[in-house]
Amino acid sequence: MNLKMPGHVGSAAELERFFAPDGPMVTRFGGRARWSQTEMALTFNKAIHERKSILMEAPTGTGKTLAYLIPIALYLRSTPRQRFVIAVASKHLQAQIERDMGRFATEFPELKESAVLKGANNYLCLNRLKRAALGFRHRDEAGLRQLLDRFELLEKLAHGWREELPIKISDAAWSQINGEGNCCKSSHGCYRRQARKLAEQARIVVVNTDLLGYNLKFTDKPIPGECEQPKPILVLDEAHTLLSRMTEVESADISFRALEGALGMLGRDTFDRPHLRTRLDLASQRLQRIRRGVVEGPEGQQIVKPEDPCGVACRELVAAIREVKAMAAFLRKEAPSEEMAQDYREVESRLGFSENTLRSYLEKQLPNYVMLLTRTPSMHGQTAINLELKPFDMHNVLAGLWSRFQQTTLISATLIGTSIPETKKTFNAPDWHTANFPSPFDYRKQMRVFLPPRDREISDPPAISAEIERIAKSTDGRVMALFTNYKQLQETQLLLADWCRREGYQLLAQERNTSPEALVEKYNRNPRSIILGNHAMGTGVDIRLRALIITKIPFDQQTPYREARQDYLKSQKLNPFRDDTLPETIRRWKQWWGRLIREENQKGILVMLDPKLLTASYSSYFIRSLPAGIKATHLDDPVHPLPTREQFAEWANERKPSTQETALVME
Ligand code: SF4
Repeated sequence: MNLKMPGHVGSAAELERFFAPDGPMVTRFGGRARWSQTEMALTFNKAIHERKSILMEAPTGTGKTLAYLIPIALYLRSTPRQRFVIAVASKHLQAQIERDMGRFATEFPELKESAVLKGANNYLCLNRLKRAALGFRHRDEAGLRQLLDRFELLEKLAHGWREELPIKISDAAWSQINGEGNCCKSSHGCYRRQARKLAEQARIVVVNTDLLGYNLKFTDKPIPGECEQPKPILVLDEAHTLLSRMTEVESADISFRALEGALGMLGRDTFDRPHLRTRLDLASQRLQRIRRGVVEGPEGQQIVKPEDPCGVACRELVAAIREVKAMAAFLRKEAPSEEMAQDYREVESRLGFSENTLRSYLEKQLPNYVMLLTRTPSMHGQTAINLELKPFDMHNVLAGLWSRFQQTTLISATLIGTSIPETKKTFNAPDWHTANFPSPFDYRKQMRVFLPPRDREISDPPAISAEIERIAKSTDGRVMALFTNYKQLQETQLLLADWCRREGYQLLAQERNTSPEALVEKYNRNPRSIILGNHAMGTGVDIRLRALIITKIPFDQQTPYREARQDYLKSQKLNPFRDDTLPETIRRWKQWWGRLIREENQKGILVMLDPKLLTASYSSYFIRSLPAGIKATHLDDPVHPLPTREQFAEWANERKPSTQETALVME
């Protein structure tokens, strides 16, 4: 599997010097010399010099960010006109790259010629905030009033990002003052335009994967500025998320709430125009009628076919959207101010997108897409309805993406699914090179792995909660249990609540609306905790654990979309389980168990409870994807039982917590 590219090109000697044990990385920047990091930097360096696109699997702890940033800086030194795009999936990594570029710019000034570009909804729009001051809309938002009091400060933010605001405001308030939507004519003090301008001139542009996709979709350019000669080079980090992110980018959402919101806004502005008011009322009644036509039916997701009754209702919806859009256009032309005109422009643009998407699907011009109708009960007793057009097949989209760059590197700690040929096929990268690097962690010393017991099944909440208690006693907390089923997570939470209270553990369970960041923050304040998390906690979360419990193999739940996609794959002569579900789940599985060991001085217990690991024909794929050479024992193995608290503390070289310490935490 390890297909590293041999040979030395370009600035290889300089790279070796920089990353050597006595090189600047260690002596000037206080880093550690890591063999796998040097190897990765050399491989990446060779790939960009020889224009060979490459898939790289670099485990946690490799130091992958610097392994591509330093070769990029050296490349730019010798090739001034080249531009690089670094696309990542998380804001966390975007911030880390920005920090690293600032830190290493003393040694590599080329890193200063960089810009971080985010989606428009990440930038404060001072114009919209001023409109809030006029009481045009949303004057009831207390957070906005507090912001307005500090307007002068807001004009001097470094980037205009939400995290730079002097106070925290709600998502609803932020959605009213961020830069998402159509542009106004004013360019003075616009953070969004300022960021774009910087990105146009930068030679390294750091974006998130979604923005890269949207840029290509709506502007036909991956980043602002000159992108033709020479074509930019792409580094796509956290590439395991690429397919899901690009599927989202290619999807189109049409929610009734958004349509009703648009009608509401137009209604406010037409109260003194009787003829428009009548038209608007008729449009509103029409929308209600269509809504009634599709609202009846089971909750959850279903597929809308053009010839179904829902499809017929959607045809009428296209006409209704067109009518509302025409009214918004009329009001825009007569708008008394540029601000109001801007609001109408936004409404027109959103409605136009919904209209075009729906029409294309109903006219069967999008054969690789499916229309999904989702009914969800809302808090106010009404059913929320959402229509979404989602693609099945990303091959053409990926081919289009690769063609915009002269060389591409995909990087992730969990890139390879079942095999290298499968991975190449998944990412539409048939003739790319591949490389993987050994982990800097000594998993055989740092991790103990327990498989499900052979004498009993641990699959229901009572059995799972009993096992969590047993493990938490052994490690004195710092446990995370990952679930695939939200109901099971909640039931386990109920069963554990009393015990945790008695024993003084903080029980943190992921609610539907809790962000992983919020849980991590609480955990870091009191790590004597047990976290019950779902998929969001299994990927991209960095916390120091002592035990990780995987309650089930993280297969995606079956949904109408997945079923339709499986039918599509069969029609393409593919095996949906072998060619799609299994590799995708293995990537996720590797992400999940990868949460346990995050540092070289850390030790932890990995416990897998899913009985399918003992019986299913595919279980060997999951066992094989654990760290090489690791020994796993069954939970019921009398020779290698779960360690006691004392044994764990001794093995992990951790001081046994004194009763006084424990009591303090319990308070
Ligand atoms: S272009 Fe205008 S509306 Fe858009 S973010 Fe900038 S100031 Fe706001």
